[in-house]
Amino acid sequence: MSQLLSGTDPQAIATAAALLRAGEVVAFPTETVYGLGADALKERAVAQVFAIKNRPHFDPLIVHVSDQDTVALYATDIDERAVALMTHFWPGPLTLVLRKRSNLPDLVTAGLDTVAIRVPAHPVALALLRAAQIPIAAPSANPFGYVSPTTALHVQELLGHAVPLILDGGPCTVGVESTVCALTEKQAVILRPGGVAVEAIEAVIGPVAFASPSQADARSPGTLLSHYAPHVRLRLLVPGEPIPCPAEGARIGLLLFKPHPHVVGYAVTEVLSQDGNLTEAAAHLFAALRRLDAAGLDAVLVEPVLEQGLGRAIMDRLRRATAR
Ligand code: AMP
Ligand code: MG
Repeated sequence: MSQLLSGTDPQAIATAAALLRAGEVVAFPTETVYGLGADALKERAVAQVFAIKNRPHFDPLIVHVSDQDTVALYATDIDERAVALMTHFWPGPLTLVLRKRSNLPDLVTAGLDTVAIRVPAHPVALALLRAAQIPIAAPSANPFGYVSPTTALHVQELLGHAVPLILDGGPCTVGVESTVCALTEKQAVILRPGGVAVEAIEAVIGPVAFASPSQADARSPGTLLSHYAPHVRLRLLVPGEPIPCPAEGARIGLLLFKPHPHVVGYAVTEVLSQDGNLTEAAAHLFAALRRLDAAGLDAVLVEPVLEQGLGRAIMDRLRRATAR
């Protein structure tokens, strides 16, 4: 069983950094979700991350670094758009896909000639990066395809048997994965909506394109259709569709964006935001899915949210969770 240590304890950070430097895998908090980290320059350590997650080797990892200046060690062709986005959104939930340097093992990038890189906005993640002084390759700390963990306890439940140390940094404040933006072509392309709103990115670099689902699958495997999925069957209501009464005798759960006082008959109801706030809803999404999954339900109905700001990332994850 793994040790669970407070990420605010400098001794715990030092222990985690030493483990990483020795080629071990450590779970740590970021503002998006908890990550399963390894030294990005050590192929064996990275291979262990894939093994623990049961993650296919065609699915590249995001490389986390402590600051903007470090990016040039692992990526090339860092143009004005990249600098502008880094300056605006880092530390933060924006991952940039750039041309990779050859010092990064191919396993990290799944053989692609590009690298996905970001500076996370979590004090524990930043303290760990600074103490370890290595780039940390880290996917979400969950078995491949399942809902990402947003608390240290989630990680312990999912992977406690497989990692020596989990740093606890409290619940993740963003709660959905980073936005992935590719800058390898003239046209910036959003490969995955996430914690930074696309509108905010466009305000900095102008209009972006969206990868179509099939393109996204090839270029950004984290966008595989059935991803982030709980085990219970989910049905996403059509926008505007009234919330139906559940059939008698069935144990149906309800995942609501905001409170609906007159809805009755559901075995379990989860409300993502009391005042219909998309940012708050994103932060609560995965934990709510996890509770619904554990409630022994026959199915879960899901209220859609508006596809703007963080609503895009929420709907993206909900669609994947319902695609099976
Ligand atoms: P995760 O670590 O689970 O949040 O997922 C990381 C995701 O980032 C991958 O599954 C890809 O979708 C995306 N990604 C990572 N590296 C690259 C890359 N070099 N090119 C395109 N997308 C990438
Ligand atoms: Mg993941």
